[in-house]
Amino acid sequence: MNRPSDASQEQHPIPTDALAWYTLPAEQVLNLLEVNEQAGLSAAQVQARLERTGFNRLPESARRPAWLRFLLQFHNILIYVLLASAALTAMLQHLWDTVVIVAVVLANAVIGYVQEGKAEQAMDAIRQMLAPCAAVIRAGQRLGVAGEVLVPGDIVLLEAGDKVPADLRLLHANRLQIQEAILTGESAPVEKHIQPVRLAAPLGDRACMAFSGTLVTCGQATGVVVATGTSAEIGRISNLLSGVETLTTPLVQQMNVFARWLTLLILSVAGLLLIYGHFVRHYPFTEIFMVVVGLSVAAIPEGLPAVLTISLAVGVRAMARRNAIVRRLPAIETLGSVSVICTDKTGTLTRNEMMVASVVISDLTFTVDGAGYQPTGNMNLADQLIDTANHPTLAQLGRAASLCNDAMLRQHEQAWKVEGDPMEGALLVFSAKAGINSEEERGTWARTDAIPFDAKHRFMATLHHNHDRQASIYVKGAPEQILAMCTQQRGSAGAAERLDADYWHQQANTIASKGQRVLAFAIRSVPPEHTVLQLADVQGTLTLLGLVGMIDPPRPETIQAIEQCQAAGIAVKMITGDHSGTARAIGYQIGLQNPDRVLTGLDLDAMSDGVLKEALKEVNIFARTSPEHKLRLVTLLQSNGMTVAMTGDGVNDAPALKRADAGIAMGGKGSEAAKEAADLVLADDNFASIVAAVREGRTVYDNIKKVLSWTLPTNAGETMTIIVALLFGFTLPVTAIQILWINLITAVTLGIALAFEPTEEHSMRRPPRARHEPLISGALVWHMVLVSILFLCGVNGIFSYALDRGYSVELARTLAVNTLVVMEIFHLFFIRNLYGTSFTWKAIRGTKVVWLTIAVVTVAQFAITYVPTLQKVFATEAVSFMDGLLIIGIGMAFFALIEIEKQIRLRLTEPGIETPSAGPTV
Ligand code: ADP
Ligand code: MG
Repeated sequence: MNRPSDASQEQHPIPTDALAWYTLPAEQVLNLLEVNEQAGLSAAQVQARLERTGFNRLPESARRPAWLRFLLQFHNILIYVLLASAALTAMLQHLWDTVVIVAVVLANAVIGYVQEGKAEQAMDAIRQMLAPCAAVIRAGQRLGVAGEVLVPGDIVLLEAGDKVPADLRLLHANRLQIQEAILTGESAPVEKHIQPVRLAAPLGDRACMAFSGTLVTCGQATGVVVATGTSAEIGRISNLLSGVETLTTPLVQQMNVFARWLTLLILSVAGLLLIYGHFVRHYPFTEIFMVVVGLSVAAIPEGLPAVLTISLAVGVRAMARRNAIVRRLPAIETLGSVSVICTDKTGTLTRNEMMVASVVISDLTFTVDGAGYQPTGNMNLADQLIDTANHPTLAQLGRAASLCNDAMLRQHEQAWKVEGDPMEGALLVFSAKAGINSEEERGTWARTDAIPFDAKHRFMATLHHNHDRQASIYVKGAPEQILAMCTQQRGSAGAAERLDADYWHQQANTIASKGQRVLAFAIRSVPPEHTVLQLADVQGTLTLLGLVGMIDPPRPETIQAIEQCQAAGIAVKMITGDHSGTARAIGYQIGLQNPDRVLTGLDLDAMSDGVLKEALKEVNIFARTSPEHKLRLVTLLQSNGMTVAMTGDGVNDAPALKRADAGIAMGGKGSEAAKEAADLVLADDNFASIVAAVREGRTVYDNIKKVLSWTLPTNAGETMTIIVALLFGFTLPVTAIQILWINLITAVTLGIALAFEPTEEHSMRRPPRARHEPLISGALVWHMVLVSILFLCGVNGIFSYALDRGYSVELARTLAVNTLVVMEIFHLFFIRNLYGTSFTWKAIRGTKVVWLTIAVVTVAQFAITYVPTLQKVFATEAVSFMDGLLIIGIGMAFFALIEIEKQIRLRLTEPGIETPSAGPTV
């Protein structure tokens, strides 16, 4: 390792990978990195450094090379059997059969390979959407930038919930605690400070450093980037990113296991049939062998795993399009069965574009106008414009609003934007309207210490000193909290009076009942020696300045989304840290049920689990809750048998997010800690996106069910036709090669169509499915039996009809093969509408994918029926027009039968078919 003294003599101190930054004082680090803490780097510096150090990211773990992924497609018992039969047919000089088998095997591998690639692309796209952000100071401005573009020398701001974006030498640390398990394995957070530590200190003891990839659990800090990308400590852990998640869920895994067992079972039955056919029925061995291979291919649902994976990939992408990014794939399944959504209010149900609308000082209530974050607008008192200069307490409140504040306003082209919390942005706008120049104030009144906002204590405090050796503490927070810390209040002219707490509570309620978010502000002067802010400094010693009410209108799409949830049998519960009056008012505006019943955090604490469990069936609004309450609510809802989706944004929400069946983090305002704990991240923080994700979740589940409901009966039907012929010694209505053809080409293409099925119309008008509802239900088994019998009748029927009319066996088989394919196509149309009738124009029109696959399959069928070379390969003969019509007729009759059967069953199991209410009806 280089000693610091070596490095300081370098021409270019950056990047100095191996420098022991933790041994150096903060100022020296800043000097070495040629950066000023207040100004940060300039754009040109950033550019130059970026060129030298490269992007701040870790190399992606090595993928399996393409050829290996292609080869792996052949690693499958069925393919081995097929390859063995290809060898056998080659030995027996049945070369055409060999060619067909090899072609089929190759086609299967190519399809599998392409599908896998698509699925991986879907996952990659998602990973990119989750790239973390960092708050930096550059060119004197606070900015949010992608973590990737950080360079050594960047000044980074950290707060609770952040994931440290690069290795930082800390410059300021305020009660900072960081969880470094990812590097040290130690799960307890470590306290950080800014003093240099000795060179020999192990990683876990380098308390003046914050390492890339670790999580800030508490406090705030500023640090300067000293190492990025692979130069950071995290870059030394080689296997960190190795776990590229494969596209699977428990359900799909279960299906894969099921498919594997089914394969084994079928192969054993096939072995028995081989023995039976050869020794009892005395078929020639090669002939019976080929038939048994064909049979195995027919029976084994070889396309199933691939098609299920595709369904998931389609779902992942559909959700991403609706701004819901799936972090853990099982969430796709869980989302489909969600029966209650617990959601934040601010920013999720509402827009989080706040504006201060009312201000109360002493006995005066002002209204404020203006638009958005534009820092201009008027203050009115009883509809009269006022001059803010005449109201010293108003100015003091404005000062408090801009000092006790971490946000920054920036003018971007025409529009004003907030860097930081939108609520604090709104406060800056207000203070500008009250005649305060925040930049000037922040310059005169330098911040010396702060107690950051915490959802648990619901206030924030800052300590400021000016050059005239004056010092004040400013506090803002929830009115109940602040009032409890005050003994005095400011009169409108600025004089101190005794606090009239009742009056203020009443004012707070009045503002809240309009749906506005209320904040109280307080002040305390302290001696200038006072430079460290402690909790005791603010308790019971403050002077109240006034109240501020902010509007935060509901998102327009929220109301509709809530209606959808109600139709879909999904309860919606609002869990907020906000005032109960505000919560109730918003609850009314967005159409929550029972908005008058509100439970506060205090109420929750007073209730036993049993009482609360009952109350949860009625109450939909929870106010003044802290993150711990969320965990309790999730647990109790689950014990009521509900499948719970829970949103969260802060560090403290992580346990509830983990506990929920579907933990949902906010992509915008959410902390990295919440995102790491979540299954789903909302790119737009919007409640409507949750509902869209639930809808997609239901669609994916339906489609998986449809794939199964189509594949299994089709396979069973094909198998039955052959087994019956074998057992009774009939001529086979389809040859082994034909069966191979039908299965690996036709079946896989048609099956894929189902993975792309759009949402069924009624999908959000039926209640959520039960959590552990089996995929292979009694109804599905019955459907398999029915379809098998109908396939048997259809195929054998046309086969014996053809023989009766004196057709050749080849022609009779050609008819049988085409009938089988046509029946499969009709079966596809039937399956597309599991829950409703298929006799609608929409159902018949189908989707593009459906028609595309049908077109492909039809062309292929025409080819093997009419193209001379293919006729030779598949032993087929041209079919006459009338026989063609007959085949389609059989398909239609089959369709009519199963559709009528479905209608009868739907009417028997559930009276109102227009509003289907019960689960699966295959
Ligand atoms: P929500 O569920 O609406 O997001 P929070 O937990 O963020 O609620 O906030 C709860 C309460 O804490 C707010 O109603 C407000 O009174 C107060 N509060 C929120 N943010 C701040 C802040 N930055 N500084 C001081 N008080 C805050
Ligand atoms: Mg909040």
